[in-house]
Amino acid sequence: MFILERTYDYNALARHNVHTHSVFSKCAKPEMTLEAMILQAERCGLKTLAITDHSDPGDEIDTYGNFLLLKERLKGIKTDVRVLIGAELSVYGTGRYAEPYAVDKALDFASYSHVHYHLDAWEHPEDRSPAGYAAHNLAVLGALFRTDRADNIAHPFSPNKMKFFNEAEKAATLDALSDNDLGDILEKGERAGCSWEIHTPTFFRYPAFSRRFFLLGKEVGVHFCVGTDAHTLAALSTAGIAERMKAVVEG
Ligand SMILES: [Zn+2]
Ligand SMILES: [Zn+2]
Repeated sequence: MFILERTYDYNALARHNVHTHSVFSKCAKPEMTLEAMILQAERCGLKTLAITDHSDPGDEIDTYGNFLLLKERLKGIKTDVRVLIGAELSVYGTGRYAEPYAVDKALDFASYSHVHYHLDAWEHPEDRSPAGYAAHNLAVLGALFRTDRADNIAHPFSPNKMKFFNEAEKAATLDALSDNDLGDILEKGERAGCSWEIHTPTFFRYPAFSRRFFLLGKEVGVHFCVGTDAHTLAALSTAGIAERMKAVVEG
C-alpha cells in the first residue's frame, strides 16, 4: 500500500524520510530513541518519519514485539509528524521472507531489502557475475510483486553490500539492467502497490543509474519516496537533498 502521494517534485519528496533506524537496530547510535527521533524530525520540518528497523533472516530480533512496544510509546508523544512504525524486512531470495505474512501486514510500513548480500543466509545467484546479480535482483523483486507484502523497496538495486565486488563491478550490476528490464520491474512494483525508495546514500553514489531510475520511474508513473537510512539523529535530516536530487537527475 502506498503511504505517500505520487510526486516527482524534489522538495515534496524530501519532506518525508522513510528509512531510519532506532536503537532496536544494533547498527544505530544510542541517541536514536523514539522520542529523540521525533523531536529531530520536527526540527527538520519532516512531515513523515518512518522507522524501519532491521529484520534479518535468523536474527534474534522480535520485529512484532518491538513494533507493539514502539506503538505503545508513540501514544504518549504529541507531535504533528506522521510517525509510521515499520521495518526493513528481508526478502533474502526468490520467495524467501524473514517474517511471517501476518507480521508484515501488522506493521505500518513494510519496506523490503532485497540486497543484503553480506548476510550469511542471503541467496546468491548461480552466475556470480555482475550481470548474474542484476538478473537475481529482478527475479527476487518479480516474485515479491506477485504478493502484496511490500509497501516499499529499500535501497533498490543498491550494490553497496556486495562486498565481494570492487567498485567497477558494483557499478556493472547497475549497468547490466537494461531500460526495458528496469521499466518492466518498476511497472510491476507500481501495480503491486509498492513504492521505490530514493535511498540517498545509493542515489548520490551512482548518479548515472539514479538518473535512469528516476526518469524511467517518472515515465512509468511509479511512487517514489526518500530515505536517508539514518543511523544518527544528524542523518535524519533531509536538508539539501532536494537540490542534490535535482542535480543528479537534471545534470
Ligand atoms: Zn539495508
Ligand atoms: Zn537500513
